[in-house]
Amino acid sequence: MTCKEKATTYVQSQKSLHLYPRVQDAFEEVLCSLSEAELDWVCGNLELMVLHEQAVAQVMHFDPKKAAFAVMQFTFYDDMPGEVLRWVIAHELGHAMQKRNWREGDGTGLEEDADICAEQWGYLKTKEIEEYLRKRREN
Ligand SMILES: [Zn+2]
Repeated sequence: MTCKEKATTYVQSQKSLHLYPRVQDAFEEVLCSLSEAELDWVCGNLELMVLHEQAVAQVMHFDPKKAAFAVMQFTFYDDMPGEVLRWVIAHELGHAMQKRNWREGDGTGLEEDADICAEQWGYLKTKEIEEYLRKRREN
């Protein structure tokens, strides 16, 4: 299976994405930037909880897994430019690659690592992205 086919199959398997073609496209694009090993890990271990800004909460049912797995909770906004959408996805996939949660003593290290990971996949945090996220936090 090619990288594109793997990414498409994975994205189609994610039930929380099925109503959001724009977000599906962004995930597929970013996933194709990962190494094959990283993509395989995502396909086998990461479940997405993608929530539109208009939804306050949702429940998702997951198929049983043999081992521990990660869940990415991701809220997207209608005004989110594609560049921001793809960067946030890449940054969160960077956290997924860390294979563990934040612990006291980590400080901002995991955030910086996730930024570096995103950058290595071709998604640089630009001034415009920072500005959008800053405004979003203030709302
Ligand atoms: Zn982060």
